[in-house]
Amino acid sequence: MREDSAYPEASYYTATANPHESFSPLKGEVKADVCVIGGGYAGLSAALHLAEHGYKTVLLEANRVGWGASGRNGGQIHPGQRRDQFALEASVGKDHARALWGLAEDARKLVTGLIERHGIDCDLTPGLIHCAHKQAYVDDYRAEVEHLRETYGYDLIEFLDKDALSEKVGSEGYFGGTLDHGGGHLHALNFALGLAKAASDAGAGIHENSRVTAIRRGKRVTLETAEGSVSADFCVVACNGYLENLLPKVASRALPINNFIATTRPLSEKEARGLIRDREAVSDSRFVVYYYRLTADNRLLFGGGENYSSRFPADLPGFVRPHMEGIYPQLKGIEIEHAWGGTLAITMKRMPYVTRLDPNLYVATGFSGQGVTIAPLAGQLVAEAINGQMSRFDVFSTLKTPAFPGGTALRHPIMAMALLWFSLRDRMPF
Ligand SMILES: Cc1cc2nc3c(=O)[nH]c(=O)nc-3n(C[C@H](O)[C@H](O)[C@H](O)COP(=O)(O)OP(=O)(O)OC[C@H]3O[C@@H](n4cnc5c(N)ncnc54)[C@H](O)[C@@H]3O)c2cc1C
Repeated sequence: MREDSAYPEASYYTATANPHESFSPLKGEVKADVCVIGGGYAGLSAALHLAEHGYKTVLLEANRVGWGASGRNGGQIHPGQRRDQFALEASVGKDHARALWGLAEDARKLVTGLIERHGIDCDLTPGLIHCAHKQAYVDDYRAEVEHLRETYGYDLIEFLDKDALSEKVGSEGYFGGTLDHGGGHLHALNFALGLAKAASDAGAGIHENSRVTAIRRGKRVTLETAEGSVSADFCVVACNGYLENLLPKVASRALPINNFIATTRPLSEKEARGLIRDREAVSDSRFVVYYYRLTADNRLLFGGGENYSSRFPADLPGFVRPHMEGIYPQLKGIEIEHAWGGTLAITMKRMPYVTRLDPNLYVATGFSGQGVTIAPLAGQLVAEAINGQMSRFDVFSTLKTPAFPGGTALRHPIMAMALLWFSLRDRMPF
């Protein structure tokens, strides 16, 4: 999906962005210790931490910082990894699963720590509710709470039965759930803009409207843009769902998919409390997850529905509305004032693809819908690795990330069929 390089006009985030500076495009030849490609959470965090380690760092962003998924997402802070601990233990063993849990905890604390340390004004609000949309999932939720409390010592999560849940979330569509006090939500774009300011203040040179058109690999890495080039000792590629074919090996392992969000008009306090009484973020057990929350100005921000083509639906409010009204019939016909879409990258195993392709070429991508916490962490880990500290980086880099079947040409139709199957299964009652 290639759009205009300006922020999406129809986005609630664009309409409520904090004042921020623009960064000039790269012109001429520049030498750096590290060049970061991509100005989302992963790239910005890498640039910030590298600059703090004392590296001369240049970040090249094709559009504006936060223009990608980082400025468009649901803003939900999910503790844990994208896969639950039971699944991770089964696939990578108990020790590695425990290390991954430790990283996820680091990620959650990194986000709140960055917001506090850099004074980022991004409506950070505590609490995440996860809802089971099928009775069959309720026991799994209860078991997960017990497992996290007993095995991992994580006591911020509690089980909610149907009655307790329906007091908090004013929808009839759920059978039980969990309340995680370690989760929360934030204004996605303002978090990205705050990270960009922090990175710039730390000394990183940021250039917007500077698309990298070629990466020349070697002892030094050279990155070319329309009006300049950067020659660097190290390169970090953090383009996630917008990578296209810049690095084919990475593109074959990180599939771009589109997801869509709408916000209503501002609601009265009474209307808002009737939807989410205590203002937590909410997400559910659908394969194509519904995720929603109240914004600081009392709109319902609702994410639902995705597609796997290179185009967004023409009528985005019309695309999201039936999903939102299915959960909240009381909102039938309500004014939708903003609707937009974004592209994220998923991996086959839904775990991030954080790796080193050459001794001086690092990649952080494939956050599979859980990048608000994990992408800033991945940026920090890559910065640590370049600085010679490999231990936390290797917890991710030792995960296996297979290529999607069908290569970059056929993976879209093949995956579209598979993903469609799973989303159809969401609608079955068992
Ligand atoms: C609609 C939507 C809702 C989501 N909701 C949530 C949520 O609630 N919670 C959660 O945890 N995660 C969510 N996610 C996922 C999360 O937003 C992403 O995982 C995260 O933002 C990824 O950050 P990133 O830095 O890797 O990529 P991005 O933010 O996408 O940044 C990549 C950047 O690279 C730039 N780029 C690409 N190619 C080049 C090039 N050749 N040269 C220079 N720059 C280039 C792009 O312009 C882009 O700005 C959502 C994603 C979407 C799309």
